[in-house]
Parts: sequence; structure tokens; C-alpha cells
Amino acid sequence: MLARDALSWYAERPLRASRQRRYENLAARRQGRLWQADIGLAELPPYPFACECGTAGCAVTWPGTPDEYDVRRGKGWLTAHPAC
Ligand SMILES: [Zn+2]
Repeated sequence: MLARDALSWYAERPLRASRQRRYENLAARRQGRLWQADIGLAELPPYPFACECGTAGCAVTWPGTPDEYDVRRGKGWLTAHPAC
């Protein structure tokens, strides 16, 4: 039973990593919007959102505003490189 749980843990690792990157990107999106409202910026500079591919060690980023991130995420996980 323990071995099966371990296999399941490893099999689900990319999905967990994707969820964690998404959680972090959503937090950054929210922080960006709060910052924008707080100081009254008409437009935010691009933020380096993390690739959500779930590949261990992936450090690729995708620059965009919170609104651009929403559009991109509407198509699925944000993946920022062709290998995804
Ligand atoms: Zn990636």
C-alpha cells in the first residue's frame, strides 16, 4: 500500500507543481491589481508569471499584465515554452 501511495505521489507531482505555480500566479495577479488601485496606475508593467507546465526545475516565465494573464489562462494552464 505504501509503495502504491508513493507511486501515486510521484505520478501526480507535475499536476501539484502546476497547481502551485497557478496559485502563485493568481496571488501575483491579485497583488498587481491591488498595487495598481492603491497608487492609481492606469496601466501595469508586465509581470514575469511562472510557467505552469509542472516540469521539475522549469524556470521559464511569461511577461504580461494581470489582464493578459487572464486571457492566456482562459486557454488552459499557462505554459511559456514550446516543450509544454
Ligand atoms: Zn515550463
